[in-house]
Formats: sequence, C-alpha cells, structure tokens
Amino acid sequence: MKTGKIIIFSGPSGSGKTTIVKHLLKKENLSLAFSISATSRLPRKGETNGKDYFFLKEKDFIEKVKNDEFIEHEEVYPGSFYGTLKSEINRIWGLGKNIIFDIDVIGGLNIKKKYPDKTLSIFIKTPDINDIKKRLIKRNLDSKKMLKIRVNKIHEEIKLAEKFDISLLNNDLDKAKNKAEKLVENFINN
Ligand code: 5GP
Repeated sequence: MKTGKIIIFSGPSGSGKTTIVKHLLKKENLSLAFSISATSRLPRKGETNGKDYFFLKEKDFIEKVKNDEFIEHEEVYPGSFYGTLKSEINRIWGLGKNIIFDIDVIGGLNIKKKYPDKTLSIFIKTPDINDIKKRLIKRNLDSKKMLKIRVNKIHEEIKLAEKFDISLLNNDLDKAKNKAEKLVENFINN
C-alpha cells in the first residue's frame, strides 16, 4: 500500500490543538484525514460515534488490545482508555491521504517512534498554565473532579514537549493556525 505522511498534534487539554486540527482538515491541498481514535469514555454532547471517536465499552476496548488491534493505546485518564486502531491507519492510507492525529503526548511520541521519517510531531503550548485552566473551565465539558485530573496532567505533559519535532506556541489562535498550516504544508511537500 502507498503510505502517506503522518501529522501529530499533541499538547495539554485546552491548548487549542483540536481547533488547529479542525482548521487544517478544511485545507484540501493538504489532503489530510483525521485518525478517529477508539475510546472507552462516554460520548459528550454533540459527539458522534465513528466521527469524533469510536466509542467502545471498556471490555470491548480491552478485547481489541488483546487481539493486537491497536498501533498505540493509553489509559490517558484513570479508567479512560484511548487508542489508535491499525484498521484506521490502513483505511486512511488506502484513501491515498495523509493522517492527522489529535492525541495525547505519550501516544504521539509512540507513533513518532514507529514511523520516524514520515511523521511530523507538533506540541501545542500555551503561554501559561492558568490560561489553559481558564479555557478548560470556560468550555465547561468536565466535572470538577475531571478538571482537576486534567490540570494535574498538564505538568507531566509539558515536560515532554522537547521530545517533539516542533513546539508551537498558541498565544494567538489565528497566528497558530497559520503557522501550523505552513509547517504541515512544508512537511507534506518535501
Ligand atoms: P478527550 O477526552 O478530551 O477527547 O481526550 C483526552 C485526551 O486523549 C486528549 O489529550 C486527546 O488528544 C487524547 N487522545 C485522543 N485519542 C487518542 C488516542 O488514540 N491515543 C492516545 N494515546 N490519546 C488519545
């Protein structure tokens, strides 16, 4: 199979990576397709199975782990599993497209390790952690407990930023989108 390139966006929750990924997906010249992850967490309001995630029961997720169906998988938060199915990678490369990931920091580094030459890994940073906290509170998707878990994880994630090919500061969303677009375009065309 002819394989395309891999673009990884990682970074703390609330860093803006999902918004940047959605922006890039609209750019037809980049020929990107989103890698739909599997997760054992419940769908949030507005999320669709097979579009945002493949929502699986925990036991089905674990069954797929046992059957070696994942390229990578992580218990990103206690009791919440996330992973990239091999079938998803094959589906996208089968379409002749490049794959774009919105994935946690460890998962992102694992994929880069598997495909070092064809992967561009980008870590999205924000100027300070309080800024991220404010965004997470504003988007109001999480319970207080979950919010605390996410914020605690940020410190660990930031430590791993230097292992990425590029750290992209998001202190102005429009500028970050443009910068990301140029970086991806350049990587895909070379
Ligand atoms: P959320 O629950 O907010 O959608 O995602 C929580 C975290 O899991 C985010 O950092 C997201 O990027 C990450 N994530 C989503 N899909 C995957 C995946 O397939 N593998 C890994 N390792 N992390 C993922």
